[in-house]
Amino acid sequence: ETIGANLERTVARFGDREALVDVAAGRRWTYAEFDADVNRLARGLLGRGIGKGDRVGIWAPNCAEWVITQYATAKIGAILVNINPAYRTHELKYVVEQAGLSLLISATSFKTSDYRAMVEEIGFGAAIYIGTDEFRALLATSSDTGDKPDMSELNPDDPINIQYTSGTTGFPKGATLSHHNILNNGYFVGELINYTERDRICLPVPLYHCFGMVMGNLAATSHGACIVLPAPGFDPAATLATVGSEKITSLYGVPTMFIAELGLDNFDDYDLSSLRTGIMAGSPCPVEVMKRVVAEMNMSEVAICYGMTETSPVSTMTRPDDTLARRTETVGRVMPHLESKVVDPVSGRIMPYGEAGELCTRGYSVMLGYWEQPDATAEAIDAARWMHTGDLATMDDEGYVNIVGRIKDLVIRGGENVYPREVEEFLYTHPDIADVQVIGVPDAKYGEELMAWVVMRPGTTPLTADDVRAFCAGKLSHYKVPRYVHVVDGFPMTVTGKVRKVEMREKSVGILG
Ligand code: ATP
Ligand code: MG
Repeated sequence: ETIGANLERTVARFGDREALVDVAAGRRWTYAEFDADVNRLARGLLGRGIGKGDRVGIWAPNCAEWVITQYATAKIGAILVNINPAYRTHELKYVVEQAGLSLLISATSFKTSDYRAMVEEIGFGAAIYIGTDEFRALLATSSDTGDKPDMSELNPDDPINIQYTSGTTGFPKGATLSHHNILNNGYFVGELINYTERDRICLPVPLYHCFGMVMGNLAATSHGACIVLPAPGFDPAATLATVGSEKITSLYGVPTMFIAELGLDNFDDYDLSSLRTGIMAGSPCPVEVMKRVVAEMNMSEVAICYGMTETSPVSTMTRPDDTLARRTETVGRVMPHLESKVVDPVSGRIMPYGEAGELCTRGYSVMLGYWEQPDATAEAIDAARWMHTGDLATMDDEGYVNIVGRIKDLVIRGGENVYPREVEEFLYTHPDIADVQVIGVPDAKYGEELMAWVVMRPGTTPLTADDVRAFCAGKLSHYKVPRYVHVVDGFPMTVTGKVRKVEMREKSVGILG
């Protein structure tokens, strides 16, 4: 089934129910009204000469038009290219050229970002801005709600979406995804959360990311649930206010968003009684945060998801009846109709339960490939169609997966494998350390040595390597104790907020001389 056909099935069943609410704009759509706007924009795009296989970029903060564009492009078979609103001209130019955009749909500006000025700076002419007369004219081409585009030439295996990876380990790569990839992934996420047409899903997470557009939008529309956008840009107070006013049943976020919501001074004033579930994903969730989300936010069924852009994205997920321990210590079990295995990265042999190796995923959700990067695609997906995730994981005998780090971050010191996350978690327990990252640096004797980059708490004295050694003595195996300590104000980050260890390693070589 294509995304457009799936939407029309939902419209036939739930046409009068609410599909979309844009709280900041004060606008709402039933499924019938939403589909009518999707059809209008689809015809408007066709009228501008956009058709099957053409790339249409979207570069805007969350808004209803983003969602309408997602479904309008799907109905005409144009390939939607998600562009991170935090990108600046250098990254924008790369994506516009790499994906070969025919059209860019953007916002004029948001907060300090003048999108129009940046598009003009890179000299890209084919841009339309949401909220302008030109954009409204696109929606005006047909007023007849029955006037839908012809979808007979579309195939579920056609590419429909290019999503760039975060660029944590290198330059972002454009994962090319089909209707089949992302519609099924969204559908099964919704199935495992038990979504129905009575659910109302609040999305403070970015739409340009699969968290918003697949786990949010596609999970909702494939089940007749309602998408609620609280505000463009994350605002913890606006998010919790929306939960109360819109009677939200499911709330999404990365762990830091939940931490910000729980930390609001007037947290107790918000009405969260309608909540039952939600999704926390993207990075590991601290146990205390998970406990408070369950107990104080009413989200007794909250799920943890693990995935990557290349797998549409979710490959493992916790279920509503999993214990709290499973939801803090693991990323759940493999999704229905997908396979996962943990292998020795060198020999490819399957590892025994509990032993770390590379996690591999196979099945419907594996991307078609990286857009115009056949060599990178061949490195990631093997001949048997296994996606090699580059993540190190263990699996227990009941199939629960635990992510222990990335292969590229694994440090091999004198023949011993050291997982930086284990050392980082231990160092976090030091009262003066606010944040810490551990990397491997080249060493003549041991091959690699450990180095800790440390952010100190305000008012504390910077730690030396001797201090850290003393703190670790007797508690960590000697080969896991960092030899070097480097005090910093912060770490190099990707625009999606992930730490760039590649850059830390490069800089460390200079620091150590
Ligand atoms: P790039 O591939 O460009 O280096 P990236 O891998 O960070 O960037 P994404 O596809 O956005 O880009 O992120 C996927 C990665 O995020 C996974 O491979 C994994 O390392 C991490 N991740 C995702 N979910 C979780 C989770 N629940 N727990 C721990 N890590 C997670
Ligand atoms: Mg990756």
